[in-house]
Amino acid sequence: MTGSYKRGNIPVYEDRYICIKCGKKIGKLDEGLHKKMINRGAEQWMCVDCLGEYIGVSREELLKKAEYFKKMGCTLF
Ligand SMILES: [Zn+2]
Repeated sequence: MTGSYKRGNIPVYEDRYICIKCGKKIGKLDEGLHKKMINRGAEQWMCVDCLGEYIGVSREELLKKAEYFKKMGCTLF
């Protein structure tokens, strides 16, 4: 084998999109909040529940924040 690969055959890193604490699948919202609240350059993220626990903010509060950031046109969401 030459080690060549097909262009367009881009691997999908599905397994990155799980919470690093509980293993739950996460979405763009979880990812965005994690980046916003902890580290913008993060490449692994926590779900809303674990993030809330980690920083001591309720899930409702985090979702409200996400809504707010979205309204402000934040590109992370
Ligand atoms: Zn979690």
